[in-house]
Amino acid sequence: MTTIAVVGIGLAGVRAAETLRAGGYDGRLVLVGEETVEPYDRPPLSKQVLSGERDLRDIALTDEDSRAALDAEWLLGVRATALDPVSRTLSLADGRSLSADGVVIATGARARRLPGMPDMGAVHTLRTLDDAHRLRADLSRPGRVVVVGGGFIGAEVASSARGLGHEVTVVECEPMPLARQLGPAAAEILCRLHRDHGVALVTGVGVTGLLGEDSVRAVVLSDGRLLPADVVVVGVGAVPNTEWLAGSGVACDNGVLTDEWCRTTVPGVVAAGDAAAYRCRGGRLRIEHWTNARDMPVTAAGSLVAGFQGQDPAAQPAHDPLPYVWSDQYGVRLQIAGRPAAGDVLELVSGSFDDSFAAVYRNAGEISGVLAVDSAREFGRLRRDLRSAWVSRPVQKSYGRNNGHAS
Ligand code: FAD
Repeated sequence: MTTIAVVGIGLAGVRAAETLRAGGYDGRLVLVGEETVEPYDRPPLSKQVLSGERDLRDIALTDEDSRAALDAEWLLGVRATALDPVSRTLSLADGRSLSADGVVIATGARARRLPGMPDMGAVHTLRTLDDAHRLRADLSRPGRVVVVGGGFIGAEVASSARGLGHEVTVVECEPMPLARQLGPAAAEILCRLHRDHGVALVTGVGVTGLLGEDSVRAVVLSDGRLLPADVVVVGVGAVPNTEWLAGSGVACDNGVLTDEWCRTTVPGVVAAGDAAAYRCRGGRLRIEHWTNARDMPVTAAGSLVAGFQGQDPAAQPAHDPLPYVWSDQYGVRLQIAGRPAAGDVLELVSGSFDDSFAAVYRNAGEISGVLAVDSAREFGRLRRDLRSAWVSRPVQKSYGRNNGHAS
């Protein structure tokens, strides 16, 4: 009987397992995950879990029935520490080993920390349910909250903390949050959202340190200013969990390098989700967004099964989706599709930039992205227009270092 091991049981790992079973794989399926709780969805962590509206039972990715249907062996609370490329044997942190015919790498990413960031009370990053519980506990007391980083997760945490009545400051080292990714016009809208909801925005300065003994007291800014803080949340991006693959022959460079069919440099080993940097028509992408973690495992699982059946994995469609992310902050939903380049012009299609709207990015007249605020229907229509431009975009020959598309 064949064995497939899925390493990492977040959204990508669960989807890979589900796809394998749905596709008729009836061999042994072993799921290895370092978290101790059943798999759960991460987007609510910075939103409804912080506000106290939802918890594990509401955000679980599986239930009793779906777990029974998976018919898998679950190794929860167990980290994979190494992979032997020849025998495809996983070493596990509890001393066991596991040999497999196929391996799905779905180890995701972890929150990036500030250089030299101390382990001090009330200083948080946010990636796991445990992180969200600890932060929620600190937010249950009144206090000043400083969020370091004005990206999507920073903005969502600021919004949730503000909703709980805290005095909130967001510190962003760039002149405007997400200006490099979304351009100045969109960044200005994000700034306005913060300000309209009473959140102070400090931009163009970095954070050089944190002051405090047991618990944080202040954030030190690069211009010498001190921001008093009772709670600090660091939201400065994520780092793919690939260190455990050192020496395995699985090539990594800011993520596990895969081809268009999610195959890594080791036969029988595929990768998907936040951990994977896939080759596509436009070059190489590692995308840290929910939709990619939902869809990429379908191709990855398909490649494994095709390989087992002696078929050509490249006969299935390549993984090259139109990137999509949403973010809920301050009671509005932002939706973004595509990958607008710096300098692309944002053009209003409907509504008003002062309120809800749908807009497109254009590069030399060609649509390169869609941005909408509380305009789901119009966004859907424009996204369809963008999709045809996406599938016919020029092939980029250089498959060098990937450019992350971080939340
Ligand atoms: P993960 O969810 O990171 O799962 C990987 C799993 O692998 C983890 O459980 C990890 O513990 C485990 N693991 C790591 N190393 C090992 C190892 N060596 N051995 C065994 N197990 C291991 N996206 C959006 O599009 N919209 C949003 O609004 C949005 N909000 C978000 C809010 C938050 C707070 C966060 C953190 C993310 C958000 N995202 C959002 C991004 C989205 O949730 C991720 O893209 C998605 O969860 C990635 O899934 P994944 O399975 O690839 O990785």
